[in-house]
Amino acid sequence: MAQRVSVDISRRGGNDNGAQSCPGCKELLSAAELSSNSMVCPHCGHHFRLNARQRIELLADAGSWTEIAANLRSADPLEFFDLRPYSDRLEEAEYDTGLSEAMLAGRAKMNKMDVVLAVMDFAFIGGSMGSVVGERFWRAAEEAIEQRFPLVVVCSSGGARMQEGILSLLQMAKTTCAVELMGEVPIPFISVLTHPTTGGVMASFATLADVIIAEPGSFLSFSGPRIIEQTIKEKLPEDFGMAETNVKNGQVDMIVSRLELKERLVQILGMLEGGVACALEPLWKEETRFAGRRGALTQAFNRIKTFANASRRPPQG
Ligand SMILES: [Zn+2]
Repeated sequence: MAQRVSVDISRRGGNDNGAQSCPGCKELLSAAELSSNSMVCPHCGHHFRLNARQRIELLADAGSWTEIAANLRSADPLEFFDLRPYSDRLEEAEYDTGLSEAMLAGRAKMNKMDVVLAVMDFAFIGGSMGSVVGERFWRAAEEAIEQRFPLVVVCSSGGARMQEGILSLLQMAKTTCAVELMGEVPIPFISVLTHPTTGGVMASFATLADVIIAEPGSFLSFSGPRIIEQTIKEKLPEDFGMAETNVKNGQVDMIVSRLELKERLVQILGMLEGGVACALEPLWKEETRFAGRRGALTQAFNRIKTFANASRRPPQG
């Protein structure tokens, strides 16, 4: 029988002052201490989850954010009911998070550079991708193409939104087409994978970017280790799916601490806009003859990846 399950996680591991113990080092951290350090533990570097608003505040220059496609809302064509109606879940998520969906998209400036920025929020039904997330990604890509701005997307997702059935799975194809269109212009597309990024999001736009950045310690995988172990009947290594493993295996280009994230994004975007493009001028001409502008951009991205790996700081502790 279906029954309502209510789990209060708001004070997990914390106390009344908003202080919480760090899952990394067990230190008790005050809310002020954490928020002044972008929700990164000052002792061990553990990255606490950021919500969409905090993420925008972290990356966009103050006052530069303008949301696009804000009026979109999920329909409930299947009238889906699991433990309770999907429409109730949506209302509840809107109320709890103050967001209209699991992704916000908009125009912003990063160190005065124009970008289209889209951020996901895991607190909104597990950051799941339904029709609105797919459409907002599409609109963000469209905006980036029209304005000739780069696209930066911060991912955090449990995967496709099962309450929308096949419509949520279709968003994988739709977002993939949007990435393809950006590639034809070409528009630089950078994705930042945060804890956790999984399922249909991991299997579509999150890992189709030109440069893929991950926050340290994040879990990034199509599915969870238990399901894979049950399927292949083998024990997986302890570090399976971690950002650090993904970078070693080539799924992720670089791991960047949140404290340096904006600076690193600006650096990469700057290289794409100026330095690298200029340095590539002869190469660019050569490339255009054979492979079009896309080929030259690929060269630029490869140089950035080499640069990123060379300048990566060794892990601390
Ligand atoms: Zn810690």
